[in-house]
Amino acid sequence: MKQLWLAAPGKTELRTAPVPQPNRGELLIKVEAALTCGTDLKAWQRGHKLIPMPGPFGHEFSGTVAAAGGGVKKFRPGDAVMAVHTAPCLECYYCKRGFYNLCSKIMDTKVLGAFGQYVLLPRRIVQINTYPKPENLSFEEAAFLEPLSCVVHGVEKLGAGEKGENALIFGAGPIGLLHLLLLKLKGVRVAVCALEPARLKLAKKLGADAAFRPEVLKNVKKTAMERFAPQGADYVIECTGRKEVWQSAPGYARRGGRIMLFGGLKKGTPVTWPSHRIHYDELTLMASFHFCPRDVRQAHKLLARKEIDVKPLISGRYTLAGAQKAFERLAMGKGIKYVIIANH
Ligand SMILES: [Zn+2]
Ligand SMILES: [Zn+2]
Repeated sequence: MKQLWLAAPGKTELRTAPVPQPNRGELLIKVEAALTCGTDLKAWQRGHKLIPMPGPFGHEFSGTVAAAGGGVKKFRPGDAVMAVHTAPCLECYYCKRGFYNLCSKIMDTKVLGAFGQYVLLPRRIVQINTYPKPENLSFEEAAFLEPLSCVVHGVEKLGAGEKGENALIFGAGPIGLLHLLLLKLKGVRVAVCALEPARLKLAKKLGADAAFRPEVLKNVKKTAMERFAPQGADYVIECTGRKEVWQSAPGYARRGGRIMLFGGLKKGTPVTWPSHRIHYDELTLMASFHFCPRDVRQAHKLLARKEIDVKPLISGRYTLAGAQKAFERLAMGKGIKYVIIANH
């Protein structure tokens, strides 16, 4: 089978590999659609702790069951499925306490290689985090299960969703825009702050109540932010993975507000915050990483019931050989997510 590898920063490589055979409890999936992700882009640009290089690339996918190992009862060859690329062990200290996203073995059986013709799903993923794909949902939409699960996890943790609440999102990439869609669904008023005019336009189209570039926030009088939330935002959500934004995010929260730090920074990056505001204005700084099985279940529901329309986040399609182009475009801030098609 053909498989795309991340060979070195900025460099992908088309390789041939044997089609894996499923052992007991496993599923062999023929990938019908895979998506580029912000983590992939980081790995492509500078390497990433969680994505070995050189190695198979891509982790957001949907597909058809090509073969099932012994003992698999839920799925059969020919079934259309959607899955995420990890599952918790259910046995470690964190799993036993319900912190499944922090499972100490969560990355052990991680599936990479969605930019390829086939992926092999280990038993735990088949049991816990694989779902049937409804017919009315395209494979491309179904491949959003993983990023949407991450966003569901963050929004649940934040506790946003009371009527009349407002949120300011920094960043209008895939994660910022998925936050926008989910928060609008919950009835929250949402402002999006981002650099690229095309992304701001898309944010407006997707229902943002306000969308502005960061400069606007610096003007003292009657800025877009003051009009949007004069006291500051109930929730500030950092989706850029940029140190400056991490540091400035608390400045836009109202007293008692919550700040979600979603976009990870490079290991070892120091950040400084205004301790005075954090203490006397009782700000809560929170972070969100990965997802729990219940978040995947919820994300599957949202997609299957079409409560969230992810189609506008798809910016184009490339074959495996063209995937390099997709990452070059993303690195220039062009597009949100690209579909990579290995089987056609
Ligand atoms: Zn992802
Ligand atoms: Zn565990």
